[in-house]
Amino acid sequence: MRLFIAEKPSLGRAIADGLPGPHRKGNGCIETGGGTVTWCFGHILEAAEPGDYDPKWKPWPGTPADLPIVPKIWKLSPVPKAKDQLKIIKDLLGAATEIVHAGDPDREGQLLVDEVLEYLGNKKPVLRIWLSALDEKSVRQALSDLKPNDRFAPMKNAARARSQADWLVGMNLSRAYTISARSGGNPVAVLSVGRVQTPTLSLIVSRDLEIETFVPKDFFAVVARIESGPSGAFDALWTPPDTHPALDSEKRCLDRAEASRIAVRIKGQEGRLDVRKTDKSEPPPLPWSLSALTVEASKKYGLSAKEVLDAAQGLYEKKLTTYPRTDCEYLPENQKADVREILAALSKRKDYAGLAEGADPALVSRAWNTEKVTAHHAIVPTLEAASSQGLSDKEEKVFDLVCRRYLAQFYPPCRYTETVVTLVLAGEPFRATGKTPVATGWKIVTQTMDDDDREEQEPTLPPLSSGEIGRCREGTVKAKKTAPPKPYTDGTLIAAMKNVGKTLTDPGEKKILLETDGLGTEATRAAVIEGLLFRGTIEKSRKALVSTPKGRALIDACEPEVKSPAMTALWERKLEAISAGADPSGYQREIEGHVRRLIDSALKKSVRIPIDGKRCPKCGSGVLRRVNGKYGPFLGCSGYPDCRHMEKLPGTRPAQTAEAKGKSGKAPARKSPPGKRRG
Ligand SMILES: [Zn+2]
Repeated sequence: MRLFIAEKPSLGRAIADGLPGPHRKGNGCIETGGGTVTWCFGHILEAAEPGDYDPKWKPWPGTPADLPIVPKIWKLSPVPKAKDQLKIIKDLLGAATEIVHAGDPDREGQLLVDEVLEYLGNKKPVLRIWLSALDEKSVRQALSDLKPNDRFAPMKNAARARSQADWLVGMNLSRAYTISARSGGNPVAVLSVGRVQTPTLSLIVSRDLEIETFVPKDFFAVVARIESGPSGAFDALWTPPDTHPALDSEKRCLDRAEASRIAVRIKGQEGRLDVRKTDKSEPPPLPWSLSALTVEASKKYGLSAKEVLDAAQGLYEKKLTTYPRTDCEYLPENQKADVREILAALSKRKDYAGLAEGADPALVSRAWNTEKVTAHHAIVPTLEAASSQGLSDKEEKVFDLVCRRYLAQFYPPCRYTETVVTLVLAGEPFRATGKTPVATGWKIVTQTMDDDDREEQEPTLPPLSSGEIGRCREGTVKAKKTAPPKPYTDGTLIAAMKNVGKTLTDPGEKKILLETDGLGTEATRAAVIEGLLFRGTIEKSRKALVSTPKGRALIDACEPEVKSPAMTALWERKLEAISAGADPSGYQREIEGHVRRLIDSALKKSVRIPIDGKRCPKCGSGVLRRVNGKYGPFLGCSGYPDCRHMEKLPGTRPAQTAEAKGKSGKAPARKSPPGKRRG
């Protein structure tokens, strides 16, 4: 019997649909004419806790003498809720002759099912199915193209090296910094430090500080209202040469008196127009990678990174769109074969009927480029995109973005004429620009939704020709203020994490981060943001993500090495090498040495974290925090059992979030926020 082990039940059902009948639902599996399909529930094994390796590591945060925590042999333990399913897989494995690994098509998915096979001691031959989309045609195609699973071992090794390195950093540095914070005067501090989360927090803290210390500057523009014969009137802007003494380094005029003098001087002056017209064309934008999709959905609909990922994952599991955790914006050329069918599927939906019919499947956009396709291709609709019923509001929105971007590929470029008019008034150069649409092209696909884009369009100029004389009716000075940078939103933070290489100064590190994924991966970024929110180091203020006093104090305390993305850059390069087949054994030794050094420096630091709560009035050194007692919640002293002071909880509604953040004794470092699988 051939046994398929899928990463999730939805994936298992999609595979079963692609296998011949008869189908019979079994206990935790589906029997088919082509083999039995079973599944995991995402992670059904998890890394053991430090206390499982040695009882001295059980107390949290423990003492400096207990660090570092380094397992000699790594252990996994079954996730309690998934024990039954693990038993089902074990029994099926016993009866199988051949296994097909059906993890998600990425590093993490490779490790997830491989770990289960190793844990259960499988010795039977294993094949791998690689599923980029779950519609029936894609599944059948993948089923006819199974590969030996050994070929994917380097991906598994890289995923394992990453997760063990993250465990070592998270477990050790969270404890080390917490110990320092507690001896630094906050007896209830719970700090979480990690390879990706801490540099991400640092990005947010730096941005917030930049905004707070920003001093706005006034600057001045000179606008000339020009009349030109019968053609009409238009506004032209003063454009002095960059070397003009009134300009600052960003070419803004800071000298109001000079601007006013020019505005007065040009009134009534005449100049000969120089008119240059250029035909321009804008090709359709590329289909979505997950980060590009997140940036757009955050901007347009205010969706968080996690909401976008969850919606994209939901659409993938409903077989409507392709695999979501992709950093690629291109499509393999062999997928052109499906274009007509996908367009036909879209034309069955009311919203796209006209657009799908207007699309020209013979047009080939720059998105079709097999050489630029990495492990995954861009997110696009599948052949089953017509049957999109029962979508949530967020899924509808994300689906709409995906479909429209795909449709845009089958429309010609948007064409327009750019006009630049220059003239000299009283010896000073002036300039006006205008855009005249020639052909809407692909923009018709997004036009109905892009109201804000239309407002941004430049004003149209009256018909003008070179040699005409323009007369300045009036010169005015417009006062403006330089604006501070904006706080991060989910969308802009995702973009900043991806492009974090730009912020580095070391050319080598910069290069690595620009070549790789930046901070985190397409698969993990949403979870990293959720984790920071969950731990109370950042909070959401409308759409903005801003740092809390706790988050700032933590970044203030961290060694530069811990909060700079440079460490991630170096590790990522090694993981890439492992992924390409390099031996992973040296990697962990290196990380261990690194973690030891970072623990030493964390323990030597004086870490001051503001106390979030009331000091104990009895002992004066403890802090009152929420405790869930037998008869309901109350406030108890953190010095318990030495100090037994307790108080009634103020107010009637207990603070849920304070509980989640502040409950002592538990290490929050490794625990992902609820519902998250990767991080
Ligand atoms: Zn006390």
